[in-house]
Amino acid sequence: MKPMKIRIIGAGPAGLYFAGLMKQLNPAHDIQIHERGPRHATWGFGVVFSDRALEFLRADDEALYQYLTPHMQTWPNLTIVHNDTRLPITGNGFASIGRLELLTLLFAHVEKLGVQLHFESEIGSLKHPALAGADLIVAANGAFSWVRSENEARFGTTTDWRPNKFIWYGTSQVFDSLSLTFRETGHGVFCAHHYRYSPTMSTFLVELEEATWKRAGFDALDPQATIAHCERVFAKDLGGHPILSNNSHWRNFPAIWNERWSFDNVVLMGDALRTAHFSIGSGTRLAMEDAVALFKAFREHDGDVPLALQTYQTLRMPPMKKIWDAANVSIRWYERMDELVGTLNPVEFAYSYMTRTGRVNHDQMRKRDPDLVAAYEKMHPEAFR
Ligand SMILES: Cc1cc2nc3c(=O)[nH]c(=O)nc-3n(C[C@H](O)[C@H](O)[C@H](O)COP(=O)(O)OP(=O)(O)OC[C@H]3O[C@@H](n4cnc5c(N)ncnc54)[C@H](O)[C@@H]3O)c2cc1C
Repeated sequence: MKPMKIRIIGAGPAGLYFAGLMKQLNPAHDIQIHERGPRHATWGFGVVFSDRALEFLRADDEALYQYLTPHMQTWPNLTIVHNDTRLPITGNGFASIGRLELLTLLFAHVEKLGVQLHFESEIGSLKHPALAGADLIVAANGAFSWVRSENEARFGTTTDWRPNKFIWYGTSQVFDSLSLTFRETGHGVFCAHHYRYSPTMSTFLVELEEATWKRAGFDALDPQATIAHCERVFAKDLGGHPILSNNSHWRNFPAIWNERWSFDNVVLMGDALRTAHFSIGSGTRLAMEDAVALFKAFREHDGDVPLALQTYQTLRMPPMKKIWDAANVSIRWYERMDELVGTLNPVEFAYSYMTRTGRVNHDQMRKRDPDLVAAYEKMHPEAFR
């Protein structure tokens, strides 16, 4: 492949991983990434990958898998907490890592290969001099990508703002498994998605139905009072540890989709291309899979930009759409959490959670956790005669 001039907007997992793969393919590629943030700061805390999500990485890039996994926390089970009942669900392995640590490892990985990173370098226009003469411009600038929003008609973009409210916190409490804790309060159900991502820190994401959020008065609470309220609700789970903020604020989730993924020499990747709800733990995985798909398309077409961009979309869309659809079903399950916690007992609730997207059926669930399925069948003998 002849050397290409590649410019990437955004040093998140998608942009970094694509840069590394292309540079490995041809060290003569001139690849530069522009990142508006500084090198040592990022929003958020940790990200999680399912066991299966890590397998994709292993299949495509064993060396990177070996490089990243020693930095990850892993555990074999998932725990669902229904008020005070804890149900460990077996057969659901996960791994996690701090977002900043993941990015720092990827920065080192790509810089060693010769990719140039420019921090505090915001690109706000496709006419920016930094992009001049590029063979390929990759918009890997996250869910709020201006490249996408300024070209929605070309990309065929849809954005579906979901009603639940969520806020991404951390805590120094270290949990022993990926946990989903649902607590009924006088205002409604509070859900926390929480997991350890380092020996001393955990992610602690709080999600509420909009009506609960309003009843709890969060629209009028300042950041400290918001944390104090969540600490009271989850006091039993936090064990005296504080909730920690990192520029944390309430948000709604935008489910973003694009019918067309590129125009001219400009292509979308990662969250800029589509978002997948955090409840299926796949945002980072999907971003990195996009990078693999785009890289393979360029390798297959020997750097021919129009052909590679067409192949990227044709081959990547079907598997990606499956996960995106599952993520959107998962979102809607959380939008019914008040009703579900209130009407299902802990076993039924855990079963409903595990089978919510339709990707795990009864038999598969039995293989993962025979005890849970046996308890569920006992409660519903008529359905399993
Ligand atoms: C609350 C929450 C929880 C999540 N939890 C998980 C999880 O547990 N597991 C998981 O896998 N994923 C999770 N995700 C999703 C995950 O963070 C994203 O899916 C993933 O980071 C997408 O990678 P990306 O490279 O596409 O974009 P990003 O990681 O968003 O990176 C985009 C980069 O572009 C930069 N940028 C933006 N605009 C410009 C500009 N104009 N010029 C230069 N640079 C720019 C940004 O600063 C940023 O560094 C979560 C997301 C949220 C919001």
